[in-house]
Amino acid sequence: MNRPVRVRFAPSPTGFLHVGGLRTALYNYCFARANGGRFVLRIEDTDRTRFVPGAVEDILSSLQWAGIAHDEGPGAGGEYGPYFQSERLDLYREAVEALIRSGHAYPCFCNEDRLHAMREQLKKRGLSTKYDRACLGLSRDEAETRRAAGEAHVIRLRIPDEPFVRIDDLVRGEVEIASEILDDQVLLKSDGFPTYHLANVVDDHAMEITHVIRGEEWLPSAPKHLLLYRFFGWEAPRFAHLPLLLGTDRSKLSKRQAEVAVSDYRRHGFFPEALVNFVAFLGWNPGDEREIFSLAELVREFRIERVNKSGAIFNLEKLHWFNQQYMQRRPAERTIQELRVILADRGWGGIDESYLSGIVELMRERVTFIAEIPERAPWFFVDPTEYEEATVKKRWKKESAALLRGILPALGECEPFEAAAIEATVTRCAETAGVGKADLIHPLRLACTGVGGGPGLYELMAVLGRETCLRRIDRALEILV
Ligand code: GLU
Repeated sequence: MNRPVRVRFAPSPTGFLHVGGLRTALYNYCFARANGGRFVLRIEDTDRTRFVPGAVEDILSSLQWAGIAHDEGPGAGGEYGPYFQSERLDLYREAVEALIRSGHAYPCFCNEDRLHAMREQLKKRGLSTKYDRACLGLSRDEAETRRAAGEAHVIRLRIPDEPFVRIDDLVRGEVEIASEILDDQVLLKSDGFPTYHLANVVDDHAMEITHVIRGEEWLPSAPKHLLLYRFFGWEAPRFAHLPLLLGTDRSKLSKRQAEVAVSDYRRHGFFPEALVNFVAFLGWNPGDEREIFSLAELVREFRIERVNKSGAIFNLEKLHWFNQQYMQRRPAERTIQELRVILADRGWGGIDESYLSGIVELMRERVTFIAEIPERAPWFFVDPTEYEEATVKKRWKKESAALLRGILPALGECEPFEAAAIEATVTRCAETAGVGKADLIHPLRLACTGVGGGPGLYELMAVLGRETCLRRIDRALEILV
């Protein structure tokens, strides 16, 4: 097959984009980019009963947030559109008529009651509940007459009488599926809408898709798809079925174990780079110890042959770790901008750029999310009004007030008011007073922040600035006598 590479991500708008979908989109994207191909986004919206309002918008905005841009599809245009299946219905109807003519599909007039009774019967006898092919016995003329008269019916695929359907999967290798387990799949429903199987194959062909990269849950459908390609006389794409996502207990990942919607992670404050890097590793690895990969690096390194067969464990702790890594690596300006938005929400607007930059510099190694900065260190933004009780008990000694009073003038003159000079001032004052540095450091920290922990004292004092530090020390001296 020497066609130019074209792959697609084909979500159904039956819910918001979940992390498994993000992984499928990412692998498709990487594969297309690495092979000079095109990445198509197609919305498979033929199941009207399961349509969720807002889902299409969520899929588009989540992909955009993650930086996974499609070359063709909604919002991007392209020559193979429309890219919503609901706008392609004629194509499916024509295709199904061709299959009826060639004897690979047949109309079925059985209603729900009959099908239900049939299944119950088969179940009782311990048999598989496949369709019993009652309508396959109808003559073509009779079937056509009943259709022409407008009788409700579906169109079914006729599974051939051959022992196996074989798939050569890029991830799983050769897979054989016994035909006898395949049902005569409904291709066109009585409302004239295609089922997923028909629409998917017709569109993958029409859009000249060369590689179908999708979740393993679709592997059982692949034989039906291959049969359809054969019956239509079309060249089938190559398939790659990606391993299932598992919870830490190795059961299929579900809402119970972790949030599954990408937009939930986004709202939580995860960085897109971190989530993308994390999902890249759900079923793939570069074969060495490296773990931090930008999207561009993933494109360079990703090989579909390196995707694992076995289920990929979704470990939330690891995702937190990735976020921390990116917190430290991403450009500080972006963090500052985002911090500004979070602070404004809390009513702390209009803060000086260099002040925020100092905060980010000190805090980014200590937090996983930007929102943690004001949560963990609100004292950067407001003077403490209370002092952590346990710390006061442990750190505020009889002589603390006198020591702080003693250092006030020296801090007033400390030039420049930067970490090294502040440290020198503290050292000098401790020596003069004949105490250890710690006797000054702890009460100073308590006075400036109200708490016992946080970034380095000299650094945080430098960021707070002289005026704020002196004001806070004065205040503590009033309250903590
Ligand atoms: N519409 C299917 C889904 O929602 C697409 C499966 C496929 O990629 O073939 O996952």
